Amino acid sequence: MPHIHLIIGFIIANILHMNFSLNLLLILGCVLPDTDIILGFLQKKNHRTYFSHYPITWLFFAIIALIFRSDIYWFFLGGFIHVISDIFDWNVLIFAPFSAYRFSLLNFDPEEILSESSPKTSIRNYYQKPQVQIFELLILLLGAISIFWS
Ligand SMILES: [Zn+2]
Repeated sequence: MPHIHLIIGFIIANILHMNFSLNLLLILGCVLPDTDIILGFLQKKNHRTYFSHYPITWLFFAIIALIFRSDIYWFFLGGFIHVISDIFDWNVLIFAPFSAYRFSLLNFDPEEILSESSPKTSIRNYYQKPQVQIFELLILLLGAISIFWS
């Protein structure tokens, strides 16, 4: 759901009223972690098992950027927001690499979704789930409200 991460970044940027470059960093951070989907499809592996989907990775770099008072902080914060919002549909390794504990709200089985013969079929099956449709409509609604809010 990369487009939902884009909208979530947009909502947060609208709420925070930052300048254009900081908004861009935040929104890029919200979207870019899912570029590992390509590697996941090639390796037929759940992309959320890669370090790019570990909350601790993004939190660590956000704290380092904050210590050095770097604007790149907003990028890493966006990445952290991304992996935390991923908790909605299927498991995220919350404490990886220190623990294999996984958590999800809806607890979809990624193996079921990713085991399809093609990415197109996987995506279609994912979006046929009513919970996904409701969640995405809710985020879209919040995105529209945030436009008028700012
Ligand atoms: Zn993700």
